[in-house]
Amino acid sequence: MLVSAKEMLQKAKAGHYAVGQFNINNLEWTKAILEVAQEKKSPVILGVSEGAGKYMGGYTTVVGMVNGLINELNITVPVALHLDHGSYDACYKCIKAGFSSVMFDGSHLPFDENLAKTTELVNVTNQLGLSLEAEVGSIGGEEDGVIGQGECADPMECKTIADLGVSMLAAGIGNIHGKYPENWAGLSFETLDAIQAQTGDMPLVLHGGTGIPADQVKKAINLGVAKVNVNTECQLAFAAEVRKYIEAGKDLEGKGFDPRKLLAPGTAGIKATVIEKMELFGSIGKAE
Ligand SMILES: [Zn+2]
Repeated sequence: MLVSAKEMLQKAKAGHYAVGQFNINNLEWTKAILEVAQEKKSPVILGVSEGAGKYMGGYTTVVGMVNGLINELNITVPVALHLDHGSYDACYKCIKAGFSSVMFDGSHLPFDENLAKTTELVNVTNQLGLSLEAEVGSIGGEEDGVIGQGECADPMECKTIADLGVSMLAAGIGNIHGKYPENWAGLSFETLDAIQAQTGDMPLVLHGGTGIPADQVKKAINLGVAKVNVNTECQLAFAAEVRKYIEAGKDLEGKGFDPRKLLAPGTAGIKATVIEKMELFGSIGKAE
């Protein structure tokens, strides 16, 4: 059964570790992440962007697939199904479809509008026992066509949004989505410290987890980050492993063209990445 991300993130914040949000793209992704979470006894958040939701055939298809896998694979660790960077409309669609968690990304809106829409969604999600992630300021890089500047959020704006009663808060601390440029300055721990001081127990979310050096991720977790989003890294691992398989000509040997064989190395690549991240975040064994 899907659960809200609220409790798992409050536990993580109190325990000074983070829960990974791993974005899913299809059946292979979802199965790989769920199997690793179960094997490693780790809570997990499955992220779905609006683009990925559309790709997989719509939100109800995603909910059906995830619930089916949890049931058939006997997944007993806490699993949240979370809309990543949702618009106001997408939040309602996902709530209706059966997601257990949504992110409303109003960071590109004027602050007052972000505040008003987040307030409304806090009320709706609280009534339904779902978790809500809000975002302040802009996080750099590109996600489904939205480009930002790698900005840092205003700690007082973070406090205002956190005080609404959201379950988790994403705030820019110099992080970027996708691959990091050579000249990237690193995370702004000064900003994170200031946000943490203003928001207290609120689980903070670090987006753009791919390419941030491990020591910086660990430091961010020590300073109050309780959820780290991982997307690109699993995609790179999947592509690299499938490339190796094809370049070795294995798809031309026997029934090597069978998708169950062709995609198997990619799935193994995702699993290895997820294990590595769960070790880094410290979530292994926390679902026991
Ligand atoms: Zn993000």
